Amino acid sequence: MRNPNPYAAIGLDRASERRIDEAWIESLFYDPNSRILPIWRSKSFVVPGEAPRLSVIELETARALSILPSGAVFLGLKEDVAFFAVDVSHLDDPARAQSFDGQGEFVELRSVGPLLGPDDGGILAYAKGIMHWHSRHLFCGVCGTETVMREAGHVRVCNDMNCGSQHFPRTDPAVIMLVSQGERVVLGRKSEWVEHMYSTLAGFVEPGESLEDAVAREVWEEVRIEVANVRYHSSQPWPFPASLMLGFYADAVTDDIEFNRDELEDARWFTRQELADGGAGIKHRPRSDSIARRLIKDWVQSS
Ligand SMILES: [Zn+2]
Repeated sequence: MRNPNPYAAIGLDRASERRIDEAWIESLFYDPNSRILPIWRSKSFVVPGEAPRLSVIELETARALSILPSGAVFLGLKEDVAFFAVDVSHLDDPARAQSFDGQGEFVELRSVGPLLGPDDGGILAYAKGIMHWHSRHLFCGVCGTETVMREAGHVRVCNDMNCGSQHFPRTDPAVIMLVSQGERVVLGRKSEWVEHMYSTLAGFVEPGESLEDAVAREVWEEVRIEVANVRYHSSQPWPFPASLMLGFYADAVTDDIEFNRDELEDARWFTRQELADGGAGIKHRPRSDSIARRLIKDWVQSS
């Protein structure tokens, strides 16, 4: 089996069949060995430095903040140690809250992702992703009444007895594809990216659309190239804020590029040799924690 993508290998047993066991969840939450990950306004809690790692709060801190097991998201078990995520966004300044100080800092996961170990990165991505979903589903999308967390944070239920709708965590599928023709591939760049960086094309899957259709449509919209032979590579959770990246390879059947200037600043063909050398204007590759980087690297090495 090939190496998992960044954020995809978390080594957690989600124990999904036991989320409904409230007594079990409560006992785990109060177990001093359990690890409680705070999320503050979508920022992750880490021990900073050259090799950052995830950090946790003490049970006493959770108690002082009046966080109950019913308000925590059970992420899963790792070697019998339970991991929970809790939202502390109501604090004005967590650095000043009791016991937070000295144990870590709240940072954007994007800023430290490439430096994290695979397990820490994956667990923090999971915690960030599900907490983002909670923060956007405080009210029922059917009737507008408040929702409450159930099943250890893996469902929200409408508080209106006549409605009672259940809402489950969502993730937004996005396709990301390396389009090739023989010994060359199409890469594009957005104006907001770091200078000289080119990457794979990507876009969100729309309702009523297969993944293959989404790949073909996005490539056509962005660079006016027709593709065939769309084939799956691998996937990656990408909680910035709520995507699941689905990586593909596709063959170009036309070769004239006419890029969409609303989406891209440039798009062009790169040969395998150019990418292997890191030359031809592509001095900066996509982020090392991205599936884009992986798609390009695997293609370059597949010659
Ligand atoms: Zn409702």
